[in-house]
Amino acid sequence: MQVWKFGGTSVGKPERMHSIKNLITEDGNRKIVVLSALSGTTNGLLSIAESLKANNDAEATQKINDLYAHYESFIKELYATPEGYAKGKTIIDNEFSFIRSLVNIKPFSLKQEKEIVAEGELLSTQMFEAYLQEEGVKSALLPALDFMLIDADNEPVLKFTEEKLGAILSQLSDRQIFITQGFICRNPRGEVDNLKRGGSDYTASLIGGAIVAEEVQIWTDIDGMHNNDPRIVKKTFPIKELSFEEAAELAYFGAKILHPSTITPAKMKGVPVRLKNTMEPSAYGTLISTKTITDREIKAIAAKDNLTAIYIHSTRMLNAYGFLRKVFEVFEKYKTPVDMITTSEVSVSVTIDNDENIDAIMAELRQFADLEEVDKDQTIVCIVGNFSADKEGIAIKVLEAMKNIPIRMICYGASEHNISLLIHGKYKNEALNALNERCFLYEDAMKDIFSAQ
Ligand code: ASP
Ligand code: MG
Repeated sequence: MQVWKFGGTSVGKPERMHSIKNLITEDGNRKIVVLSALSGTTNGLLSIAESLKANNDAEATQKINDLYAHYESFIKELYATPEGYAKGKTIIDNEFSFIRSLVNIKPFSLKQEKEIVAEGELLSTQMFEAYLQEEGVKSALLPALDFMLIDADNEPVLKFTEEKLGAILSQLSDRQIFITQGFICRNPRGEVDNLKRGGSDYTASLIGGAIVAEEVQIWTDIDGMHNNDPRIVKKTFPIKELSFEEAAELAYFGAKILHPSTITPAKMKGVPVRLKNTMEPSAYGTLISTKTITDREIKAIAAKDNLTAIYIHSTRMLNAYGFLRKVFEVFEKYKTPVDMITTSEVSVSVTIDNDENIDAIMAELRQFADLEEVDKDQTIVCIVGNFSADKEGIAIKVLEAMKNIPIRMICYGASEHNISLLIHGKYKNEALNALNERCFLYEDAMKDIFSAQ
């Protein structure tokens, strides 16, 4: 069985739902299809919740009416038969009467906010399931609230999903297509909760891990993960294959198409994750798996902005031990994650993303260390690939590309998949382009020359 996930824009128009139906039924294979809310709906529901929190019932009601009107016109185009339309109308009327009932609950709390925001996925999946029924597809709706659970630390309980979903599926062996909601779950109090914004990818990977699926496919409107930021660099291309470690580095460093924790459950169970493009279904996309593919050493480049660098020198100088522990205890105390570190015998430099507590952190560090002025507006440029320790010639390519750009920190060897450089944010575009030229375009041109000889 495969697990396929479609995001908000992939279900955001009636005709897109029609093409998804074709896509999921074409190959005749059984699959679980995870859907997000229609694009714009989650934001719309959160905005209704904001009005209700502010006790502005008239404004909330107006927003609810507007959203209802959108759904009413959506179902007119979604279904071809009066019976189909009638089913769709019942679905939206039921869900919207629940949404309207929340207007009267005072005070409007976080519990209600989570209930309201869950409506997006409840609507999209029921509407789509009714459409599949109209089209005669042997499908079933699996209520995510029956098998998706988070614990008191907001961590998904995979064991629960394995047991519950396994039991549900064993009752439905005659069905071909299963539809379920992304994003939503229950919490230990039994209340409706969610996996945070963008969490539908995470749902797909959790389900994939729970049933040890053949493959998880994340369908979006981009043709996979690109080797560099297409907004900044012209000649980028989709990366065909990545290992889980490489994909995790890229997701963390801003490759927006994947929720950073998404792939962990799939990775744990060795389930491959494929990124596919709804607009171009025959394109290969990007396959993320346990294999380390060696055709290219440098696979991709990504960047993370708005970091602050702190330079810390030990006042007791050489051979002092326990210094690093003391430094990191300060960051721990202020719950501030450190992104990048470089050290020498007597100094350590770090970067942080969240500088909310920087003054307090600096004050504590000054009790046992000398500090320089911090540098704001720093960018980590991260080069991801397959850099095992016995490979030569990788650093030189990276540094050659960066020859005209001042580098503040370099990190190599922390993992076999990452080289990080810290530069001032103003050099970011130049750095991404220069690295693209040297590490991809030049390399490919050289390969072409040699293979032609
Ligand atoms: N609908 C939710 C959101 O917009 C979950 C998702 O789309 O992944 O965040
Ligand atoms: Mg979404």
